[in-house]
Amino acid sequence: MKIGIGFDVHAFAADRKLVLGGLTIPYHQGLDGHSDADVVIHAIMDALLGAAGLGDIGTHFPDDDPVYKNADSMKLLKNVHSFISRDALEVSNMDIVIMAQQPKLAPYIAEMKDSIAQALNISNTAVNVKATTTEKLGFVGREEGIAAQVVVLLMTKRED
Ligand SMILES: [Zn+2]
Repeated sequence: MKIGIGFDVHAFAADRKLVLGGLTIPYHQGLDGHSDADVVIHAIMDALLGAAGLGDIGTHFPDDDPVYKNADSMKLLKNVHSFISRDALEVSNMDIVIMAQQPKLAPYIAEMKDSIAQALNISNTAVNVKATTTEKLGFVGREEGIAAQVVVLLMTKRED
């Protein structure tokens, strides 16, 4: 078993789509970033790479590389998934915390679980997504951005 942790933050920016966990969420602003700035998927990728001992997303997908401008983070997640599969590892389960004062994410949690599980080719029961505010404290509470934290457990694939 291998455990990994991922954390990411993006600031809000005008004239951007809000993409979280592969879903486009209706809101008057999005997150700033070189790619689609999907803070949830970025934290998942860092947790997976961490568990597999493969560094971080910055090394694999440098944000000064024009190839990754406005990149679809779900595609990058599928790449990361192929790295861990190559190393004979598979996701046992993951737990995700999204820290956002606004918008309210409860209506999107179920669909987000499905979208993440599908990208990783695992059951949606292996993915848990939680959203929390920070009680108006800190940068999240001031609605300056969104943070995400992920813990993942990888298992060695069974030979059968
Ligand atoms: Zn990021």
